[in-house]
Amino acid sequence: NTILEIKNLKAKTVDDGTLILKGVNLKINEGEIHAIMGPNGSGKSTLSNVIMGSPKYEVVEGDILFKGKSILGLSTDQRAKLGLFMSFQSPESVDGVKMRQFLLNSYRNINTEDEITALKLNKKILNFSDTVKLNKDFLNRYVNTGFSGGERKKSEILQMGLLNPSLSILDEIDSGLDVDALKIVSESINKFKTEKMGILMITHYQRILNYVTPDFVHVYANGTIVKTGDATLAKEVEENGYAFLETVEE
Ligand code: ADP
Ligand code: MG
Ligand code: MG
Repeated sequence: NTILEIKNLKAKTVDDGTLILKGVNLKINEGEIHAIMGPNGSGKSTLSNVIMGSPKYEVVEGDILFKGKSILGLSTDQRAKLGLFMSFQSPESVDGVKMRQFLLNSYRNINTEDEITALKLNKKILNFSDTVKLNKDFLNRYVNTGFSGGERKKSEILQMGLLNPSLSILDEIDSGLDVDALKIVSESINKFKTEKMGILMITHYQRILNYVTPDFVHVYANGTIVKTGDATLAKEVEENGYAFLETVEE
């Protein structure tokens, strides 16, 4: 079953009308891990923001289908309720809300029908915290306030595990992580991924793909996918850099 289908997607900034997405095509089926690799400034974060319905961008052509239905008319919150999840490249801090409450709220917001008790939900949160190796004290801290880079990324993955979305978009979840944190984050992704879940991993570097094996690798440049392959394509990019893109684009 197809989870996400992006068809000839073109989008511009609301700010100044710059066209950033220049015709993206992508299809993600249940259980598949797709990696998008590309140079800085190529529009990778814009793609994830547009999938999530950021009001900073306007879709000018094409469509985004989630489980067969267009989601272009939906708000970010409505998309999240349908089962889309995105980790932010630079997560914002949320003043005055503790991590535990934030996670409880996120869960309740997405799972409105679920009558799980607060006690059980708290236990669930503790279990997920354990997996990402964030301790109990962490849950009493204010969201993203004074978090280290690693703690931020781990808390994003914790959220992914707890919310169990149909599609997880992970934007540079590997950036700024030391090897130990990278391993914990990768192992957690592998553990939290279900056979129903699709994952879109956006990354500049190949490193994380040694731990989370993609089924498809897409090389992305200047607002569009220029090459698609299997996991070996990531190694090729790692070895040759993005320089080969110049020959692809011509
Ligand atoms: P990447 O994630 O691949 O590094 P981005 O999607 O963050 O790339 O940015 C792609 C380009 O679009 C950059 O040149 C960036 O400055 C520009 N851009 C992104 N969002 C906006 C915006 N809201 N307003 C103006 N320019 C933007
Ligand atoms: Mg960037
Ligand atoms: Mg980015």
